[in-house]
Amino acid sequence: RLKTELAAAKEPGRTSDGHLVPLLANIGSPADVAAAVEAGAEGVGLLRTEFFCLDDGEGKGGVPSESGQAEAYREVLSAFPGQRVVVRVLDAGADKPLGFLTAGDEPNPALGMRGVRTLLRHPEVLRTQLLALTRAAEGLPVHLEVMAPMVADRADARAFAEACRAAGLRASVGAMVETPSAALRARSLLREVEFLSVGTNDLAQYAFAADRQAATLSRLQDPWHPALLDLVAMTAEAARGEGRSCGVCGEAAADPLLACVLTGLGVTSLSMAPAALSRVRAALATCTLAQCRRAAAAARSADSPEEARLAARAVLSGE
Ligand code: PEP
Ligand code: MG
Repeated sequence: RLKTELAAAKEPGRTSDGHLVPLLANIGSPADVAAAVEAGAEGVGLLRTEFFCLDDGEGKGGVPSESGQAEAYREVLSAFPGQRVVVRVLDAGADKPLGFLTAGDEPNPALGMRGVRTLLRHPEVLRTQLLALTRAAEGLPVHLEVMAPMVADRADARAFAEACRAAGLRASVGAMVETPSAALRARSLLREVEFLSVGTNDLAQYAFAADRQAATLSRLQDPWHPALLDLVAMTAEAARGEGRSCGVCGEAAADPLLACVLTGLGVTSLSMAPAALSRVRAALATCTLAQCRRAAAAARSADSPEEARLAARAVLSGE
């Protein structure tokens, strides 16, 4: 039985009729790498680099050195030969303050300097990270992709893409869709970058104007909310129209039922905590792509997260 389970763990993500949906891992620290490999991740859909950029001592409270970063990234990249690794450049600020970058005196940090906004204000930090990534991937048989967090519009995407070119980055360049403005104008972002990845945690926070850390607002953080599904659908449709990939790397992808709905919305890969991979893989294998699409349509027709969940479940269990 263990053997069967281990074999199943190495199967690629696919619906019962063979539509492939790569199942990738979210990695936040070196400790997650082994768990991802063990769970049969088909690569990394979100490498959160904040942990890797904690002060390494050389920067005297400042930016970790290029070589220090390169060494840390290389360890991750070398664990995924032949696979995709999507690295997110620093998302400092708001819920992820970094001492050397975050001012700490903003009245509304979640609406302030965070993500790509911070990096464009500190181009030397972005450049060091991009140089470190190129150095880390040198000679490794890995498909490196690099994306920016908190891209709000085409100007953000362009500035990021330009920084990547200027640093000589050898990787695909992408943007995270975490703000309603990015979802609404996903097509225009794709004039500047090659791929999109939806961060549903922040997309929910900004769509509902509900602090992702406020436990009292959980009703407005539910990724099953049809308003959020609409935004994801809009993004995925724009990407499909341009022949580009659009993943989801927020917590939503870790919910097996919702993973099927996201697939039905047209999302092309799902990235999640390693612990969620086997359950999502199993759920996806039980339904056809057509069922996923019907479940997605049913969920979007609902008026609340609860109704959306029930409607999707009814379709997927063949009720
Ligand atoms: C997200 O916002 O959905 C996301 C994947 O990024 P993080 O949770 O790190 O902000
Ligand atoms: Mg985010």
